[in-house]
Amino acid sequence: MIKLNMAYKRLDPAYLFSDIAQRLKQYKAYHPDVKIIKLGIGDVTEPLPDACIKALHKAIDEMASKETFKGYGPEQGYDFLREIIAEKDFQSRGANITANDIFVSDGTKCDIANFQELFSNEIKVAVMDPVYPVYVDSNVMAGRTGVSYKKRYHEITYLECTPENNYMPDLPSSPVDLIYLCYPNNPTGQTITRKELERWVQYAIDNQSLILYDAAYESFIKDPELPRSIYEIPGATKVAVEFRSFSKSAGFTGLRCAYTVVPEDCLVYSHNEAAYTLRGFWNRRQTTKFNGVSYPVQCAAHAVYSDEGQVQVNALTDYYLKNAAVVRKAFLDMGYQCTGGDNSPYIWINVKSDSWIFFDALLKVTGVVCTPGLGFGECGKTFIRISAFNDYNAVLEAVERIQKNHDEVLAVNERDLKSV
Ligand code: PLP
Repeated sequence: MIKLNMAYKRLDPAYLFSDIAQRLKQYKAYHPDVKIIKLGIGDVTEPLPDACIKALHKAIDEMASKETFKGYGPEQGYDFLREIIAEKDFQSRGANITANDIFVSDGTKCDIANFQELFSNEIKVAVMDPVYPVYVDSNVMAGRTGVSYKKRYHEITYLECTPENNYMPDLPSSPVDLIYLCYPNNPTGQTITRKELERWVQYAIDNQSLILYDAAYESFIKDPELPRSIYEIPGATKVAVEFRSFSKSAGFTGLRCAYTVVPEDCLVYSHNEAAYTLRGFWNRRQTTKFNGVSYPVQCAAHAVYSDEGQVQVNALTDYYLKNAAVVRKAFLDMGYQCTGGDNSPYIWINVKSDSWIFFDALLKVTGVVCTPGLGFGECGKTFIRISAFNDYNAVLEAVERIQKNHDEVLAVNERDLKSV
């Protein structure tokens, strides 16, 4: 008899985006003429940079000829891409990362979900709340938890990000072994300073723990004072793995390319505390379970680092940041407390109401779709997340509709709050 991995039964249903889709469907049925503006899901809307398109065409032509055709590539990625990543993203910032530390992949989502399988099931895991749900769910699937109660798993340490701590969690009060950090953060849009990041690196060194540092939104950092990589912090190569993606920086969400950095001196320990280099185990995992990213896609990623590519990807992130600034200003002007939208494409807005009821009120009155904060955890229950990934004119229209109908949104929200 085929038996289920019962850990899958302990997962909270992944209802967030399907619930949103369901509510949208109902809304459309009653309001077929309203133009809906989606500022919910964090998917890019602008086409690929021209430099990447050119590189893709060229690579496809190479695949069409017997002399230049490529079959399986190295599981870790082609050297031409690994070398330029190490040089431009790390060495140029003083970080001691080499091409051998870079593992090219088809996405940060799968890499960060897969990485936990290198560790014992006895480790203590810490995540921020609110959180990108993949960190929690991948650990539940691995069997590290029991069932959840009120959206939380007893075995996981939740580091609360609230207005009181400016969405910067305190260090864990009892020791943890694996720490997921995400900066710029999804969903709060919060960024981390060098000093704050130093605290985490020191914590990891002191506790022999490991930080999984999700920097999927690093390209939105424009403030030169903010660290763009955890490896800008001395000592971090020993205690941190960093995840980067071309999804949001260069519009690769549909093309798929990312990379994970496992520095040579990063350590992991056996039950009797013998130290091993982590990189070899990730390499072993990838060579067994992954067969590399396609050659044309890696050529497109390589083109991001050309002079032309750099101008174009900077224009892309500037475009979305302009949208973010419009949303942020509008909500601040309406009297809301917001974070993000500055060095980040997400704006986290404290609506001081039930996040789903506010979501519905906003949709009913304005036709604008946001994401209810509760979908990211308990600490998000009075927040909404607005994403800056959309057309500039659509963002202007969304903001205008919200400002014009703000009183009605609040009235519907109040009425619906009372009726539950
Ligand atoms: N990490 C975070 C925090 C994200 O928000 C996302 C996507 O929205 C990802 C990773 C996924 O990145 P990728 O497209 O490379 O899988």
